[in-house]
Amino acid sequence: MRAETPVLIVGGGPVGLAAALDLSWRGIDSVLIEQDPCTSPVLLAKAGTLNARSLEFFRRWGLSDAVAHWGAPEDYPRDTVYCTSLGGRLVGRDKAPSQRERRPPDCSPEMLQKCPQHVLDPLLADAVVRGGRTDIRYSTRLAGFAQDADGVTVELVDVRSGETSALRAQYLVACDGAASVVRRSLGIPFEGPTLDYSVSALLRIDALEQHHTFGLAERFMFMGEGGTWANMTSVDFLGLWRFTMVGSEERLDPRKLDLAPILARAFGDKPIPYEVLRVVPWRRSQCTAAQYVQGRVLLAGDAAHTTSPTGGHGLNTGLGDVVGMGWVLQALLEGWGGPSLLQAYADERRAVALRNGASSTRNYKAWVRSDADYQLIDANGPDGDAARARIGAQLSAMLYPEWNSLGIAMGYRYEGSPIVVPDGSPEPPDEPSECVQTARPGHRAPHAWLADGRSTIDLFGRGFVLLHLGDAVVPTDALQDAAREAGVPLAVEHLREPQVRQLYERPLVLVRPDGHVCWRGDTLPHDAVALLDTVTGHARVDAEVAA
Ligand SMILES: Cc1cc2nc3c(=O)[nH]c(=O)nc-3n(C[C@H](O)[C@H](O)[C@H](O)COP(=O)(O)OP(=O)(O)OC[C@H]3O[C@@H](n4cnc5c(N)ncnc54)[C@H](O)[C@@H]3O)c2cc1C
Repeated sequence: MRAETPVLIVGGGPVGLAAALDLSWRGIDSVLIEQDPCTSPVLLAKAGTLNARSLEFFRRWGLSDAVAHWGAPEDYPRDTVYCTSLGGRLVGRDKAPSQRERRPPDCSPEMLQKCPQHVLDPLLADAVVRGGRTDIRYSTRLAGFAQDADGVTVELVDVRSGETSALRAQYLVACDGAASVVRRSLGIPFEGPTLDYSVSALLRIDALEQHHTFGLAERFMFMGEGGTWANMTSVDFLGLWRFTMVGSEERLDPRKLDLAPILARAFGDKPIPYEVLRVVPWRRSQCTAAQYVQGRVLLAGDAAHTTSPTGGHGLNTGLGDVVGMGWVLQALLEGWGGPSLLQAYADERRAVALRNGASSTRNYKAWVRSDADYQLIDANGPDGDAARARIGAQLSAMLYPEWNSLGIAMGYRYEGSPIVVPDGSPEPPDEPSECVQTARPGHRAPHAWLADGRSTIDLFGRGFVLLHLGDAVVPTDALQDAAREAGVPLAVEHLREPQVRQLYERPLVLVRPDGHVCWRGDTLPHDAVALLDTVTGHARVDAEVAA
């Protein structure tokens, strides 16, 4: 007899683990398969920057403290230094405060944190195990799958023994990375450019700051006459560094790469002792799956989109997918969600990937550009000084959105979504570095502190929340009755704080389980049932998703 599960998650990287965690938090069982023998089997030189929105998700899952305080020195400055080499000339510096000096922005109870994947992934895996609702199967690979109207039948292979088994799931979630077998099997195009082929080396360098005069910095960008050619970023502020060469159009073979002269160029005349832990080739691209959903299969994370890491938006976008998807699956599995929820997930999250990917590519193009000034980057005398000053100032201006991306983190909106009811207010600008909160339908419901010390965002998550704001009496019974009748989880929160009423702009605001506003008004509409139908996905379905 075949085993069964509500949701099969393929891939136990950070996005697959977060998907399992969110489902478990919602009371939904899943099976997660991962072809590797454990979580984080090798030291990964990938994601580290987790933005404030991701931290809000971790807050929801009870992990924000663990992600923020995992043992890195908290007084380490987060500066970026532009230089010709560690022993060479200083071209510019973007100062950034240490974790201890920073405070959450006004728009969030949380702030950006740095937590590298060799710390984050095990934290996520432990939380998934503690949740008690996920059957994690390591050394298990997806071999094939077929779907019908009621579910997905998958074939699994134990990679150690070669034994195969079958599993039946109601939904399959593909978190199997950029080379996603699931996406390829479905024939879904992965559209977008390859920007370059890069190589990163993971280095151990103890007390690097003792070997140069630039002081502590999170990141060094190395530049020569042709522009920026490499960068080196602290992975953990404890001696682990990721050195990345600007890529080429050709794939580089790491076995043929002689790192010593490359590092000598970056370190200048400084004999800096280092140990090479790993060398990882990777493709820098901005690709987006043409479809996020096909039938009962959903794509998330790198399986659905890739971005240049310039900005650190890849995993953050994947975590957004997870939160956008979790409640949709909950609604469908519990029977109160309608068919256009899947279309909404696809529309909403694909647009965010396109937006975040475009921003990352803009950042990448800014740091690889060069102009005539670079010819003088190492020149003595006033002409050289002036050229370096111009380059430094230009880099600081052009890379500002890379180091300051609160708008990317918080300002995405689900414009035109089939399950969001517009209120006619104009769409505000979408600036990468600015977070201007709004409760306009489609946007993340704003954060404000409540009198009892909670944030408004602490109210959202497991079901819909109808915020009743201010002192005026506004009837809410019709929506509560409709929700009870349809089995839709809905709570009403009456908040009297004047600043919250002002921020949300209307006395009634309906917030979805993912924390996005889906409707607001002065009074409930005459047909509260129709409103509920729309926001729970019963109103319209697109043929592409149903296919
Ligand atoms: C240099 C670099 C720096 C980066 N920095 C940042 C950053 O600071 N912030 C940020 O947000 N993002 C960053 N990223 C991007 C980030 O690393 C990725 O977006 C993220 O790792 C994607 O996670 P994922 O779980 O979707 O995919 P993956 O991490 O690729 O995980 C996919 C998993 O699926 C498993 N799998 C694949 N096929 C199968 C199968 N058939 N059966 C079973 N299991 C399977 C794989 O073994 C793997 O464990 C960076 C990327 C790079 C390259």
